[in-house]
Amino acid sequence: GRGRAELTVLVLGLDNSGKSTLLNALRPPEQRAQHTTPTVAQQLDHFQSGGISFSAWDVSGAPRHRALWERHYRRAHAVIFVVDSADHLRLVVAREELELLLAHPDMFGRRVPLLVFANKSDAPHALAPMQVAAALGLERIVEKPWHIGASCALSGAGLADGVAWLARQLR
Ligand code: GDP
Repeated sequence: GRGRAELTVLVLGLDNSGKSTLLNALRPPEQRAQHTTPTVAQQLDHFQSGGISFSAWDVSGAPRHRALWERHYRRAHAVIFVVDSADHLRLVVAREELELLLAHPDMFGRRVPLLVFANKSDAPHALAPMQVAAALGLERIVEKPWHIGASCALSGAGLADGVAWLARQLR
């Protein structure tokens, strides 16, 4: 086992993909009330629970902030990439961001599990996870274990399945 070491999970994705909603759903109930605004510029959310530290960032924010979240790649044990399955147009942008992430020197070649949430599965015209996987080019990822699952961050549907997969990878 990992003993008492803290695991760091980065939650990334374009703005409006549902990262804040998703993190709030994962947050332990007793921490929801005291929701504090993160102090780090552009960081959307951060909390710790059960030895896991979750931090969420918008990858579509101001380019000058890119270095801020990329600085965290080095110590990331896992990445959750959140996609709005109903935002067909911006799937291309999401793919570009994912490719930048995977090619980054602090990520490339590392066996960092990648969990993709095809979020907003409840929305009209939402693409199925298989279609989102194809649009993102996930099948080309060889050096990282990856998994995609449909989620609805509003209701919490699909979140537990995805997190269970991630937990198995980190064991
Ligand atoms: P972020 O910018 O990635 O943090 O996205 P937010 O969590 O702020 O969500 C952006 C918008 O999408 C908000 O209006 C959310 O209520 C909505 N949203 C988030 N997740 C879902 C979902 O699973 N289904 C639907 N229909 N709306 C969602």
